[in-house]
Amino acid sequence: MIVNMKREATEEQIQHVIERIKECGYQAHVIRGAERTVIGAVGSGGNRSALEALQAAPGVEDLVPISQPFKLVSTQLRSERTIVDVGGVPIGGEHWVVMAGPCSVESREQLLATARGVRDAGASILRGGAYKPRTSPYDFQGLGVEGLKILAEARKETGLPIVTEVMGVEDLDAVVEYADLMQVGARNMQNYPLLRRLATVPRPVLLKRGPSSTIKEWLLAAEYLLSGGNPNVILCERGIKTFDAELRNTLDLAGVALAKELCHLPVVVDPSHATGRRSLVPAAARAAVAIGADGIIVEVHPCPERALSDGPQSLDLPGFAAMMRGLQPAIAMVAAGR
Ligand code: PEP
Ligand code: MN
Repeated sequence: MIVNMKREATEEQIQHVIERIKECGYQAHVIRGAERTVIGAVGSGGNRSALEALQAAPGVEDLVPISQPFKLVSTQLRSERTIVDVGGVPIGGEHWVVMAGPCSVESREQLLATARGVRDAGASILRGGAYKPRTSPYDFQGLGVEGLKILAEARKETGLPIVTEVMGVEDLDAVVEYADLMQVGARNMQNYPLLRRLATVPRPVLLKRGPSSTIKEWLLAAEYLLSGGNPNVILCERGIKTFDAELRNTLDLAGVALAKELCHLPVVVDPSHATGRRSLVPAAARAAVAIGADGIIVEVHPCPERALSDGPQSLDLPGFAAMMRGLQPAIAMVAAGR
């Protein structure tokens, strides 16, 4: 239920409503907008008719039920776009972001060369996996803590905040110590124990869409993070499974637009995993800009032919710089049309 407070509602009236919502057996989530305060009453098993009686409480304008199964992420509850701060870099709203780097951290030299290159070409966040979810157990599994330390060194040198994947609750403390943005991989989107823990950490979360997940399931996964106390969530569309075997995945562009219509969180696109092919990454990135995504996360390797993971979809450094130049007109056009 959404409790819309009157424009002139006092702090005392807001606090009273929050108390009453809790007494009725619901969680109260306060959203303070520029014009008015809105309070979301969410949860199950509360006393609904007692909640509805809050219509008569001082300072309350009206009560509106939230029709979607996801509540706190919904644009019904919050109409302003959420802006997430990642180590000083704002994502969402007017701020377009490029996160770039290798699929996996392989060595100090490889990561530092990539970090310098992507920074010089205009990226503002460095990506790199230290814990890698690989389809085959015989493939490179990542450097673990050693990889996190290399990422931290690259951040220190370049000033770029880092995004890296947390694969399970057992790695969470190590990743929190080093990462500016915690990546939940596509395979883990519905790992609820992991989401519950991430709801309590003081770091923003990049939540990738599961390869076979519906938009509703994706937004409900984000709801776990918000309802557990972490409002700083960025969604990432990285391609879904369809019947076509030519591409690694199918980029669900309309799904990006729909996610932005239904939910106030920033939504970025991963054109690398969505296509699986280097040659298609710049076109998919331009399409992401045009459909209204808030940014991209893209794989870049100084020598893709030697990459230990995802070489075929990784741009080299000149290719990344060229893609960045090609994106500028599209970014300017979308900004002008806002
Ligand atoms: C990755 O970012 O390298 C990755 C493993 O992505 P996804 O979880 O989308 O497959
Ligand atoms: Mn990858």
